[in-house]
Amino acid sequence: MSLVHDVVIVGSGPAGLTAAIYCARANLAPVCIEGMGAGGQLMLTTEVENYPGFPEGIMGPELMMKFREQAARFGTTFITDDATRVDLSSSPFKVSTADQEFLARTIIISTGATAKLLGLESEQRLFARGVSTCATCDGFFFREKPIAVIGGGDSAVEEANFLTRFATKVTLVHRRDELRASKIMQERAFANPKIEFRWNSAIEEVLGDTSVTGLRLRDVNTNVVDDIEVDGVFVAIGHTPNTKLFEGQIDLHDNGYIRTAPNSTATSIPGVFAAGDVQDFTYRQAITASGSGCMAALETERYLESLGHEHA
Ligand code: NAP
Repeated sequence: MSLVHDVVIVGSGPAGLTAAIYCARANLAPVCIEGMGAGGQLMLTTEVENYPGFPEGIMGPELMMKFREQAARFGTTFITDDATRVDLSSSPFKVSTADQEFLARTIIISTGATAKLLGLESEQRLFARGVSTCATCDGFFFREKPIAVIGGGDSAVEEANFLTRFATKVTLVHRRDELRASKIMQERAFANPKIEFRWNSAIEEVLGDTSVTGLRLRDVNTNVVDDIEVDGVFVAIGHTPNTKLFEGQIDLHDNGYIRTAPNSTATSIPGVFAAGDVQDFTYRQAITASGSGCMAALETERYLESLGHEHA
């Protein structure tokens, strides 16, 4: 008979890895399907200044490496592959990758969310040729060059600030005339002489044949169109939850995020828990994702105990 794992964790951002640390320390021998893009969104971020315990700040990928080391130290088994299919219709649940199937008494879903794109043909065509959603990954390529950041939230403003380390000038393009970002981030951006703001501007097109040469902007009030010269475009307009695998199997909110019970990570299916950005569209912080990963692990443990299951 196939081995039935106590818990399979799908996803390896702060939520999944915190769940792994707690489950491993509770002797549940968790299997974490970490995905090809292991580590989640912090792998794509710059300096993390608000994760407690790192008063000087820490780079996102380094923080995730530490999470992973800690989870591995207590016996988490990592599968470095994407989950391609999930069957939650009966227990044990099934989670498949391209070439393996895992049976599980419980599942913790922590597949996070993915950066949104504008949906322009030119953006698609020039993706990774000057268009990026990852300032940490790609900022370095734009040393002494002008670049643009699109969006008005914390991500956009944070990226704009970070990118001034490399770029000659960063133009922050926003569709309204005020930022959504938190006050402290806004103040920092307004005080940065390398950041210029283009308000009330929609992106008509990313310009360039084989690499980005500029942006065509339209003033949303006057409809006047003009071009700006940039070598890089960083799109920072929010995220979509990674819930495709679970559609039709589990209750989702209208916006696609997994529905969990109040003050709990319990989903509509007993034994299936959801933690982190895949179920949180309010806070979306690494620390809150970690917190809910911890909750998911504790709830998993209690659920297994309620089944009267004795784990190793
Ligand atoms: P967000 O807060 O949803 O902001 C998205 C921004 O993109 C908004 O300004 C929005 O414009 C704009 N936008 C959305 N769709 C667009 C489109 N199709 N075309 C042009 N512009 C578009 O997303 P976020 O900045 O990624 O932040 C998400 C969450 O993470 C927030 O809770 C944020 O506080 C948090 N976060 C925190 C930190 C930090 O504390 N260090 C860093 C990054 C993110 P409108 O304003 O007009 O809607």
